[in-house]
Amino acid sequence: MSLARRILEMEESPTMAVTAKAKALKAAGEPVIGFGAGEPDFATPDHIVEAARAAALDPASHRYTPAGGTPALRTAIAEQTTAYTGVDYTADNVIVANGGKHALYDIFQALVDDGDEVLIPAPYWVSYPEQVKLAQGVPVAVPTTKDTGFRTDPAQLETYRTARTKVLVFVSPSNPTGAVYAPDEIAAIGRWAAEHDLWVVTDEIYQHLVYGDASFASLPAVAPEAAAKTVIAHGVAKTYAMTGWRVGWAVAPIEVAKAMNKLQSQMTSNVCNVAQAAALAAITGPQDDVATMLEAFDRRRRTAVDLLGAIDGVEVAEPEGAFYVFPSFEGVLGRTIGGREVTTALELADVLLEQAKVAVVPGEAFGAPGYARLSYALGDEDLAAGIARIAELLG
Ligand code: PLP
Repeated sequence: MSLARRILEMEESPTMAVTAKAKALKAAGEPVIGFGAGEPDFATPDHIVEAARAAALDPASHRYTPAGGTPALRTAIAEQTTAYTGVDYTADNVIVANGGKHALYDIFQALVDDGDEVLIPAPYWVSYPEQVKLAQGVPVAVPTTKDTGFRTDPAQLETYRTARTKVLVFVSPSNPTGAVYAPDEIAAIGRWAAEHDLWVVTDEIYQHLVYGDASFASLPAVAPEAAAKTVIAHGVAKTYAMTGWRVGWAVAPIEVAKAMNKLQSQMTSNVCNVAQAAALAAITGPQDDVATMLEAFDRRRRTAVDLLGAIDGVEVAEPEGAFYVFPSFEGVLGRTIGGREVTTALELADVLLEQAKVAVVPGEAFGAPGYARLSYALGDEDLAAGIARIAELLG
């Protein structure tokens, strides 16, 4: 069989693969505790589900809508984005896509040409490099470590900029590290991008998931000079426990929005109308459930940091956003664990799943060998029991 080179050269999403493996083992009766999935364990709030039910009963939802999304949802997204960025957006700047992941795919397809370089601070979310490659671009990882709180800055970025650099990917709060940049750090990065006439793709999917003293700041809000060449990717999945509904969006300068619209008109047509109605209810309705979930995530975050930090050889920086911890396991590599010599995080993840029945995502997936990502968006009891199993196996 001769498959296309672009498919042969691309990696399957390792986070989806770990999640699928853990779910399959669980379904087969294994007592697996999954730290792999980047999804809240809560049900979608009732009023959102009710809005979907009403939409499903309305024959208007049984038809195509504009490829880029329903006018009501696009308008609501534009209004909210203008409110927190200070940048004037209308529905024409918004494209509703099949999740934030699809919005990002649209964005890279619209912006990136053959050989264009895209700077991606590492550790990075698994799909950015693959999506850039699918657009014939060249992903350029900009490595960061726990020593800088997994944050980059203009001085470091400048050392990776070439004449082919076209786009910077910027994410705060970050997946997989949970790092949150301070507003002045974001402003400096935005100014640097504007100075070099780069596009910024800023992924704001974890906007509402910040803890403690940290606060979210949007790049075009704190660096208005970068706004004309900034595209925001966003969605309802993480904030409203709606990963399965598949609604995300891009907010972009008009030419880019038109390009993405053209692409979707040939690729997917509109996102499911019922899901769009649910997303509209999510972003315009009561936000109490978000506060409740946030409280639970914050509690679990502290538990995860405490329990992981107490394991010999494990170092964990306190994440300030999203729902991931990203500990370094470098101190345990080289040991014999469960009868196997473990030298990489990849092998460690394998042994943990096999012998402790705990699923984590190895750092290699995010361009960060030696680390692993654990999502703490799971029940409190499972969280504590899962880390206890890790401690026991490593102990
Ligand atoms: N961006 C980041 C940083 C993510 O972590 C994710 C999901 O894991 C997404 C985008 C995409 O989310 P979705 O496609 O479920 O909206």
